[in-house]
Amino acid sequence: MDKISVIVPCFNEEKVLPAFYRETAKAIEPISGAAFEFIFVNDGSSDHTQEILQTLVYKDNRCKFISFSRNFGKEAAMYAGLKNASGNYCVFMDADLQHPPALLAEMYRVLKTEGYDCCAGFREDRAGEGRLRNALSRCFYKIINKLCDLNMADGAGDYRMMNRMVADSILEFKEYNRYMKGIFSFVGFDTKWIPFRNVERAAGETKWNFGSLFQYAVNGILSFSSAPATLAGTAGGLLLLFTFLTALLLLLTGHGLNGTGLIVCLILFLNAVQLLFLSILGQYISKDYMESKKRPIYIIKKTEGF
Ligand code: UDP
Ligand code: MG
Repeated sequence: MDKISVIVPCFNEEKVLPAFYRETAKAIEPISGAAFEFIFVNDGSSDHTQEILQTLVYKDNRCKFISFSRNFGKEAAMYAGLKNASGNYCVFMDADLQHPPALLAEMYRVLKTEGYDCCAGFREDRAGEGRLRNALSRCFYKIINKLCDLNMADGAGDYRMMNRMVADSILEFKEYNRYMKGIFSFVGFDTKWIPFRNVERAAGETKWNFGSLFQYAVNGILSFSSAPATLAGTAGGLLLLFTFLTALLLLLTGHGLNGTGLIVCLILFLNAVQLLFLSILGQYISKDYMESKKRPIYIIKKTEGF
C-alpha cells in the first residue's frame, strides 16, 4: 500500500485551514491504493492556526503538525515537512486552496501508472493577481532561466507530487537560502506538467508584498547563478572600449592626448581596470559560495549490474 504525505506550510491561515482540510479530505477519499498523512508546518503564525492544527490532530490521526518557534519562511517550512514525511510519495500544497485538491488523484495516477517521478501543477492563467505582479513575475522567470541555466515555467508553483527518490534528492540540498523552484529544476528527473486554473485564495491574505517578492527573486538568482558577478566584468569591458574610442577620437581630431583629455582617459581607464578586477574577485567569491552549499555533485536515478 502506498503512502502519500501532504505537506502544507501554514502562516496565519486560520481563515482557510478548516476549509482546506475539509476539501482535501473529501478529494482524497475516492483515491484507492494509497493511505495519506497530512503534515502541517506552522511557520510561526500569530493567529489561531496553532489551535486549529491541534484540533485537526485530535480529530484525524492522519494529521500531524510541526510548529516553528517563529516565522522562518515558506521554503524552510517545506523543507521541515519533507524531512518529516514518511510517505513514499510527497506532495506540497498551499493552505489557501489555490492548489486544487481535485488534482491529487490525477497526480497520483500519473506517478503510479505513467512512469514519471514527479507531477507538477502549473497555473495556466494568472487571474486574481495584480497586473503589475503578473508582468514582473513574467519578467523574472525570463531573467532567471537565462542567467541560471534552469528551466522554470512561468506559473509553475510548488504544487507537485514526487516519489521518494525525488524527495530524498531534494533533502540532500541542505543550503540555508533555499529556493525550492530552483532546486526542483536542478534535481532533474522526469516531470509531467499538468495545468490548473488560478483562483483567488479562499480567504485570508497573501503573505507576499512587493518587497518580499523582490527579495525572493534576488535570492533565487543569487542561489543559482554567478551571473551578477560577471556583470561588473561586462561593464568594465565596455568602459575600456569606450576609453580607447575616446582616446582615438582625441588623437584623430588633432586634439592630442594631453591636458584634460589625458586626465579623462586615465580616469576612465583606471575605473575600467577596477571593474574588471572586481569581477574576477566576484567570480572567486561566487565559486566559493557555491562550494559552501555542498550540493550533490550528481544525482543517480538508476544503477544496474554492480
Ligand atoms: N507561507 C508560509 N510561510 C511564510 C509565507 C507563506 O508557510 O512566511 C505559506 C502560506 O501559509 C501558504 C503558502 O505558503 O500556505 C503560500 O502563501 P501565499 O498564499 O501567501 O502566497 P501566494 O499564493 O500569494 O504566492
Ligand atoms: Mg496563495
